[in-house]
Amino acid sequence: MTDMLIIGAGPAGLTAAVYGQRAGLRVKVLKGPFGLGQLVQTNELENFPGFVEPLSGFELMDKMEKQAARLGAEILDDTVESVDTSKRPFAVRTSGGVFEAKTVIVATGSHARWLGVEGEKEYRGRGVSACATCDGFFFRGKDVVVVGGGNTAFEDALFLAKICRSVTLVHRRGEFRAAQKSVDIAKADPKIKMKLFCVAEKIEGDVLGVTGITLRNVLDNTVETVPCHGVFVAVGGVPQTDFLKNSGVELLAGGQVKINEKCATNIPGLYAAGDCADPNFRQAVIAAGSGAKAAVEAINHINLN
Ligand code: NAP
Repeated sequence: MTDMLIIGAGPAGLTAAVYGQRAGLRVKVLKGPFGLGQLVQTNELENFPGFVEPLSGFELMDKMEKQAARLGAEILDDTVESVDTSKRPFAVRTSGGVFEAKTVIVATGSHARWLGVEGEKEYRGRGVSACATCDGFFFRGKDVVVVGGGNTAFEDALFLAKICRSVTLVHRRGEFRAAQKSVDIAKADPKIKMKLFCVAEKIEGDVLGVTGITLRNVLDNTVETVPCHGVFVAVGGVPQTDFLKNSGVELLAGGQVKINEKCATNIPGLYAAGDCADPNFRQAVIAAGSGAKAAVEAINHINLN
């Protein structure tokens, strides 16, 4: 029997584990297929409080995992398949068996959203990627395209501009969600070109991989193919909550777990934190804060039941 079973080992899950252990609970964290979460793909992080100099997402997550483990949390690789919320304790079915838990915190994060255009699936791993930090090195000295106008797209473009011959940033509007500082740096970088008011129609390729991307200008409907070897898709994330379908846990239209201001779901004793429950911010520090909130509420739940 576990007091607090945490599904996911990103900033939300590991922060919840620290709080749970420090309250004297038996805590298990199930990492699942995404390990320490999306943040490990971030090359340089300078907005997480407490670190004077920038650090990589991997460094931060490695520290969080070691901190939770030092306090005694049991961190397992299991992938959750379903949660039976009709039973108390909850029965959480995983790749390795069934865990019983007094409280559950869902902190499964989100994964990359794809464009859904022709050629994208076909050339995934052969020129199409959603992780510049992971795959950028394969395109050193080559021409690449980044699709998106958020912080991820700009971070990817700036990262790729250091190793690639050219980077073309494609965005469907003329304004960006990304931080102004990143936009200004990208605009000043001679290696970065921008194609605004353009959407991807098709990713072109041959037996060797990607050869280009066909774009349609949404203002005048003109179509052009930009030659490139790599296409990096950075158009946001999709919450990883599929395993909760049929569990009775209420989800929002976007797939995020529906929570109140205390991270409680509609199921007493089951909480959610981080990107899997956040349609707005998707920030490491906010995920960590919500993990702490969920843990405090789970601790109170155990004390009162
Ligand atoms: P995001 O902020 O949701 O931006 C997604 C971008 O993709 C938007 O520009 C959106 O266009 C575009 N887009 C969405 N669907 C599209 C489609 N089907 N076709 C073409 N374009 C599409 O996602 P993100 O950049 O991954 O960032 C996610 C969150 O993480 C944000 O809160 C961001 O601030 C945060 N983040 C922070 C940092 C940091 O602080 N260092 C780094 C990375 C990410 P529209 O603008 O037109 O909707």
